[in-house]
Formats: sequence, C-alpha cells, structure tokens
Amino acid sequence: MRRAKKSAEPPQEILDAQDSLERRIRAHMARGRVVVTLTDNRYTMISVRRFPKDRRYEVRLHHMFASADPVITRALARYIAENDADASRILGDFIDDNSDHVRGRSRRTPTTLIFTAGEHHDLRSIFDELNERYFDNRIDAAITWGARTGRPRRRNSIKMGSYSVEDRLIRIHRSLDRAFVPHFFVAWIVFHEMLHQVHDIRVKNGRREFHSKEFLADEAQFEQYDEARSWERRHLDAILTY
Ligand SMILES: [Zn+2]
Repeated sequence: MRRAKKSAEPPQEILDAQDSLERRIRAHMARGRVVVTLTDNRYTMISVRRFPKDRRYEVRLHHMFASADPVITRALARYIAENDADASRILGDFIDDNSDHVRGRSRRTPTTLIFTAGEHHDLRSIFDELNERYFDNRIDAAITWGARTGRPRRRNSIKMGSYSVEDRLIRIHRSLDRAFVPHFFVAWIVFHEMLHQVHDIRVKNGRREFHSKEFLADEAQFEQYDEARSWERRHLDAILTY
C-alpha cells in the first residue's frame, strides 16, 4: 500500500490539540522548540527529528498522546531532548496501556514501539537520506531501533537488521547505536533492509531465497560497499558484544 500525501489542513480541533501538547511538553524543557504533529499511524507511535543547530524538535505522535498527563508529557520532553532511557520505558508502558486506541490493534497485539532517534545515530535521517539518494523516495516503511537489552555479553550472532513485510517495518539492532560504529555502517545495514522492500522473496528449489543475484547486485551499488564490509569484518567482536 502506498499512502497518498494529505494536502488539506487538519481540522481546527487537531490543530488546537497539537498546540496544547506542544505547550505541555515545552513546559518540561529547559530550552528548545517543539513542533508536534498528531497522527493516526498504526505502527509509528513516536518519531522525533532533531535539529540541534536551532534547537528545534519535530515530533510526530499518535493521537493517544493528545490527553497525556504531566508524567507522560515530562517523559516525552526528556525523551525528545535527551533520548532518556527511563523516559523511553515510561512511554513504552503508556503505549502498551493505550494500544486499544490504535486502529486495528488490541491489547493482545501490542503496538510496535518506534524509536528512531538513537544515542549516536538517527535512523529517521539515515532512512530519509538513503530513500532520496538510492530509491527516488519510493520506499514506504517505518524504521526503529530494536529493544534495549540488559548487561553486555559476547553473543554468537546478532541480527543487525530485519524487515517485516507485513508491518513494513525495518528494525535495527541497538548494538549499532554506539559511538564506535560509523554512520556509513549503520546506513549500510539500513540500505540492505530497504532493498528487501524492492525485491520480493522468491522460492527457489523449494527454499525461500532472501538474497537473490539481483538483490546482491543492487546491494553492491551502495557507495561505501567495500568499506562497510571490511569494517564489519574488523569489528565483528565489538558488534557481537552487546
Ligand atoms: Zn537480508
């Protein structure tokens, strides 16, 4: 499904609710400007774009947040401005409690929490850059960091990225949201998952083929392809320790 762009102004009551929520979030912030857009998304409950130069934050929030109480608006402020982990957990619980407000969802099918702003990498801007540069803005997917985990340990494998066809959702492992991981490497993993929307999974000799010849050829179009693969080989242990 491709969603058509809305051109009409939202109704006055939505504009008022957005204004009110902006003021209530802003009240908990020392500085910065917040612009809130309320949505009726099925998958993305929160998405933040940060513009550090002019201390501006563009926030898209599911309408369940319109009547949020001060505990929640304070958590929103801390999540938006500082990407605070406790705030993120509070928001996660709030979303779970309110998931029956999400179209086509019930309490029994918890909503996927979308967090694009990481501590070191912003998935939303990486996705947008790649979509414009390589895909003519044709990829229609949500993207999120995966769940945080507990104490770091050495793992045998990590799924650095995944793409869910049903949810149109790209998930990137939190292990990559660390200072030593370069921007181009995160972009490379995101690029790979975006390609999964372009290439259908085919069945070959009775087995599902995730990475066809054509997929691999497209993958090699990534500008820092060699650099990304070589970086991965050299830093595998560090990536797996999370
Ligand atoms: Zn893949």
